[in-house]
Amino acid sequence: MPLRETEAIVLRTYHLGEADKIVSLFTRQYGRLRAVATGAQRTRSRFGGVLEPLTYIRLWLFERENRDLLRMNSAELVESFFAIQGDFTVQLAAQYMAEAAERFLPEREVNERAFRLLLAALRGLKASGEVHRTLLYFDYWLLRLSGLLPELRWCAACGKPLNAQGASYDATPQGLFCCRRGKGKISAGGLGLTEKIRRLPLDAWLGSDEPRNAVFEARRLFEAWIASSAEGRLMTLEMLHEEAERE
Ligand SMILES: [Zn+2]
Repeated sequence: MPLRETEAIVLRTYHLGEADKIVSLFTRQYGRLRAVATGAQRTRSRFGGVLEPLTYIRLWLFERENRDLLRMNSAELVESFFAIQGDFTVQLAAQYMAEAAERFLPEREVNERAFRLLLAALRGLKASGEVHRTLLYFDYWLLRLSGLLPELRWCAACGKPLNAQGASYDATPQGLFCCRRGKGKISAGGLGLTEKIRRLPLDAWLGSDEPRNAVFEARRLFEAWIASSAEGRLMTLEMLHEEAERE
């Protein structure tokens, strides 16, 4: 492949030997992928320290014949989310979004709307410092933009509209039930939030005040579904739950 320009959010980096790094990226034009940044561990690298997790960059990629991994030619900073790192829970929330994107989204599958979602959620988190409502919005839309969000208005077993009784659900995204007992439960209040998130842009959603319990209930629902479809355990999600219990 010839040299290609794209924008990306750095999800994670790994050391490769003494001098290089493997960079896990969510790119706007090509989806999630990994690329080798040659010499990125050197102090005077041409990447100039922009390959940190949660950095929004512009980069140039190319593929060598008979090699699985892409190579990065160069990269420059577009936007940093470094300011997020002042607050532990906010930082953890940002790391969760990166981890969920990395383990949940299929490799090399273009999903420009999911890219814009991650970027908007990071910006929302940076501007508002509001962890719970930002994560709920991110989780709902990550499922939806991946085509994994089931119908939330009717019972998946009997087809009746879900009413004030709330609903139950299983750990995998098979829908909500009124007449069957599942592993988790969500109240009518929690369900009402999902309808609001579907309609509102993130800024408007973050500006609205919602009962904390309902936000938590809805988050547990979507996080269970994301975790069940993700590759491996979501370590940051477990840490977020421990944090929430301490609050
Ligand atoms: Zn039912």
